[in-house]
Amino acid sequence: MKCPRCDSETIRKMVDAPVDNAWEVYVCDTCFYSWRSTEDPHVHAKFKLKPEDIPNLQVIPPVPPLEK
Ligand SMILES: [Zn+2]
Repeated sequence: MKCPRCDSETIRKMVDAPVDNAWEVYVCDTCFYSWRSTEDPHVHAKFKLKPEDIPNLQVIPPVPPLEK
């Protein structure tokens, strides 16, 4: 699995759904993007990050709205 925003493979599961294991939440350890397993996140190219750019960021970048 790859991060939808920075294409890193540093993904870990953050939390499970409280009931029925209906979903899990994953988070990227590189850019801190997180998403639910029931989503199919597509990050617009404008909001994509390259892992090598992340150490230079001054703030954690905002999560863009989901595409409809
Ligand atoms: Zn990422």
